[in-house]
Amino acid sequence: MNSLVNTPIAPAPLLADSRPMIDPFGRAVTYLRVSVTDRCDFRCTYCMAENMTFLPKKDLLTLEELDRLCSAFIAKGVRKLRLTGGEPLVRKNIMFLVRALGRHIEAGHLDELTLTTNGSQLARHAAELYDCGVRRINVSLDTLDADKFRAITRWGDLSRVMEGIEAAQKAGLKIKLNAVALKGFNDHEIANMLRFAHGRGMDLTVIETMPMGEIDEDRTDQYMPLSELRARLEQEFSLEDIAYKTGGPARYVTVKETGGRLGFITPMTHNFCESCNRVRLTCTGTLYMCLGQNDAADLRTALRASDDDAYLSAAIDEAITRKPKGHDFIIDRNNRPAVARHMSVTGG
Ligand code: SAM
Ligand code: SF4
Repeated sequence: MNSLVNTPIAPAPLLADSRPMIDPFGRAVTYLRVSVTDRCDFRCTYCMAENMTFLPKKDLLTLEELDRLCSAFIAKGVRKLRLTGGEPLVRKNIMFLVRALGRHIEAGHLDELTLTTNGSQLARHAAELYDCGVRRINVSLDTLDADKFRAITRWGDLSRVMEGIEAAQKAGLKIKLNAVALKGFNDHEIANMLRFAHGRGMDLTVIETMPMGEIDEDRTDQYMPLSELRARLEQEFSLEDIAYKTGGPARYVTVKETGGRLGFITPMTHNFCESCNRVRLTCTGTLYMCLGQNDAADLRTALRASDDDAYLSAAIDEAITRKPKGHDFIIDRNNRPAVARHMSVTGG
């Protein structure tokens, strides 16, 4: 085990002046998503180009700095924290950060610590994730066909993801599968994936593709409105809208035939910004107040300027005053991304 992992972790810091973060539109910010790396061991065609230029490693915050930043947000009212990426489990020593953040769960300052993963490294980390206080995870899976899986991820191996899912369930982690709906690729497979997920006690959420970052393909060809997908599923299943919420943007239905839950994330056809409760931190300490806007705050400078968290706290407060009302995603006919950065920078 690396020495970092054995480093004793300081108790959860709580700021004396901690106040809830309320944005200019009256929304409380209680959910932080952290992209711990922009790197990934897959190259999903809708997410990345095959030849990506990643951030220089020297620009990354250390895991200790990420812990300090996340802890400052928790002290200011964040109750749910999701690690994402890139692929969070490919960041070196990532379990050090997960364990460090787990102390906030133990102390009752955080309701949920979770992550979104492609599942490739899950088999070896599942038991430790549970031990650190993680109880639910999202696994991204767009197809159950090994050849199609290889095609969409370019580099991925479906059998490893399946092993990861099995190990995670064995470790006691609840899993939600996330599938990006891609026209002509998996739109006819979603019914099958639904049976697969529900048959194994997992929820399934389908997501519309968002125009983020330059990729090698045409997004207008890939885009599949979920209203269309839902109508198609309704020919086979009885879907009943429910009020179930996980703190994220998905709207859920129960599927009568399987007894399981199906979520829809529809940033394109139904904008969910009015109830947005989250902000996103990158691995270089940049805070994006909206996934679909370019405005950002540099928290790395504030973090490094002083050991006193008061400075950082003020920088976070200032950033929250700039949280915009919403995003303006459209699938542009000229195939231009709405924001230049890839999803892997801000995290999905
Ligand atoms: N690598 C991890 C994974 O795949 O789960 C975490 C990061 S990934 C960027 C998070 C989620 O964003 C995945 O479910 C992925 O399918 C989704 N995603 C990536 N690019 C997207 C895009 N342009 N539109 C919609 N979803 C996207
Ligand atoms: Fe990697 Fe996740 Fe993007 Fe796929 S969606 S390339 S697994 S970051």
